[in-house]
Amino acid sequence: MSGILYLVATPIGNLEDITLRAINILKEVDLIAAEDTRHTLKLLNHLNISKPLISYHRHNEEVKSDIIIEKLKKGENIALVSDAGTPVISDPGEEVVKEALKENIKIIPIPGACALINALIASGLDAKEFAFYGFLSTNKKLKKEKLEEIKKEKKTSIIYEAPHKLLDTLKIIEEIFENRKIVIARELTKIHEEFISGTASEILEKYNEPKGEHIILIEGNKLQENSEKNILNNMSLEEHYNYYEKQGLIKNEIIKKIAKDRNVNKNEIYKYFIKNK
Ligand code: SAM
Repeated sequence: MSGILYLVATPIGNLEDITLRAINILKEVDLIAAEDTRHTLKLLNHLNISKPLISYHRHNEEVKSDIIIEKLKKGENIALVSDAGTPVISDPGEEVVKEALKENIKIIPIPGACALINALIASGLDAKEFAFYGFLSTNKKLKKEKLEEIKKEKKTSIIYEAPHKLLDTLKIIEEIFENRKIVIARELTKIHEEFISGTASEILEKYNEPKGEHIILIEGNKLQENSEKNILNNMSLEEHYNYYEKQGLIKNEIIKKIAKDRNVNKNEIYKYFIKNK
């Protein structure tokens, strides 16, 4: 019988952010596949765990996936970890997950730290829906094109950025987004953790030497959302209802949406439709 592939999240700074389950899995598996074995060794030493390690990083993903799959097929249980946070998220792992699924190998995610989620929840920006872009291209033209696309996005956008590129990226954001609210989440879970918010210009003014790890969060495009709301609110209630009905929503959902768009109590809308529908 095949072994299990565990995708184990590790801390993004503070070593206390490892779960009991993650520790137990790291103790129990036969092998740990690590993005950087020296880095993971430090964590394992801290946890008093001694295990064979195999390297699995961006440049050897394909070859190492084959080796890992062969071992799993022979019945070995393997934990995959990245240097920090959740594997696969802007980190190696996707290739071996896809290959393991083809071979019907069981995959179990072991949850834990993930930088983008912690940045989002404390940013104060809308968190019901969000768009994560990982690292943008290092090519300036492609980066600008992507940021132009992000400008239209109504959801909160989240971008990972290397510290030495942060100021350049903020300057492009300043050009493209003008007065849009930005939040920089820096050094999460570490001593110098901070959240800096303002327009890109305001952030650039007070922030000239970025050190450590950063995430850029960009408020969603409210203009587009507001103009859409205006169009909907200028419709009759029946037209507004039909608009959502065509999207496949059921009566209760439609009533909630209309009440939200029009900023009124949903009972008022409900009463109207009891009388008129
Ligand atoms: N897999 C990781 C995760 O679960 O978030 C992400 C790894 S990715 C290679 C590294 C990027 O994540 C950094 O450049 C930074 O943008 C973000 N990041 C990771 N740790 C962070 C931290 N402690 N504070 C702020 N950003 C962090």
